[in-house]
Amino acid sequence: AKQDGRNSYAFYTESLTKESIEHLKLQSALHDALDKQNFHLVYQPKLDFVTMQTTGFEALLRWCDPVLGNVSPDKFIPIAEKIGLINEIGSWVLKEACQQGVKWISQGKTFGRIAVNVAGQQLQRTSFVDEVKLVLEETGLPASALELEVTESFMMSDPEVVIRDLQRLGEMGIELSIDDFGTGYSSLSYLKKLPIHKLKLDQSFVKDLPLDLNNSAIAKAVIALGQALNLKVIAEGVENEAQAAFLRDNGCHEAQGYLYSKPMLPEALNDFLIDRVHY
Ligand code: C2E
Ligand code: CA
Ligand code: CA
Ligand code: CA
Repeated sequence: AKQDGRNSYAFYTESLTKESIEHLKLQSALHDALDKQNFHLVYQPKLDFVTMQTTGFEALLRWCDPVLGNVSPDKFIPIAEKIGLINEIGSWVLKEACQQGVKWISQGKTFGRIAVNVAGQQLQRTSFVDEVKLVLEETGLPASALELEVTESFMMSDPEVVIRDLQRLGEMGIELSIDDFGTGYSSLSYLKKLPIHKLKLDQSFVKDLPLDLNNSAIAKAVIALGQALNLKVIAEGVENEAQAAFLRDNGCHEAQGYLYSKPMLPEALNDFLIDRVHY
């Protein structure tokens, strides 16, 4: 038994080491990724459930490292947060996404809003509101063409300060969404204090709708909550017609998911862009 114990300990440290080596490799490659232009954005359409018109596009970050290959944001975003790179990366994403919006506008395309994911750390910076204002000014994107997706994680510390900043962003005309809604920490009493416009029903609750009874109940409850608080509800991770029918029948406003489109390069999204009509 003692032998076993030692072996499993040895195995444990070995795998830890492997993990930390992997982690270190990712860390140092991440430091170079911005300079070496190894990031790009892909965009996933969001659609109105009734009209099936595009209401916007979510910008999603992609990292292609020459040595490590494609690394998933689920893997590198938490590392970027931990090593203090998320602010720099987030600034790049915001600017790049706004520039894309301006490009579409200049091509005579209508797209609703470009949605940018904002990490809790970015939101906690005192300069975040000013940064957003400056990027809008510099790129020329109207605030009415921007949406910010935030998670409930900012509620963990100093929510009052963040709530005031969200208020200012909302007053500028930016739409604010709570991402991954239902998985976070915020209490419902806070929700009504938040100056937000939209809830994004997390994809874990969209999975196996309508057969999964727990998820059906949660999805209905979130939609009802949205109606009660006058917030739009968008479902993410919609992959099939059965999910879409259930969500639509229960009053969900918008949808996003592989059923409609995977996240794609801007050039590939023509079908989802609407030509602006000139009079
Ligand atoms: P998220 O913001 O919740 O984004 C939704 C994720 O679900 C995206 O994964 C998207 O590609 C994926 N997805 C979309 N439709 C479907 C579907 O029908 N089925 C399934 N199974 N998945 C679908 P992705 O692009 O790998 O991003 C993962 C997470 O990384 C994001 O989750 C977000 O939290 C984070 N992330 C991505 N880009 C950024 C960024 O620019 N800034 C920050 N702070 N986080 C980002
Ligand atoms: Ca998101
Ligand atoms: Ca989400
Ligand atoms: Ca997510």
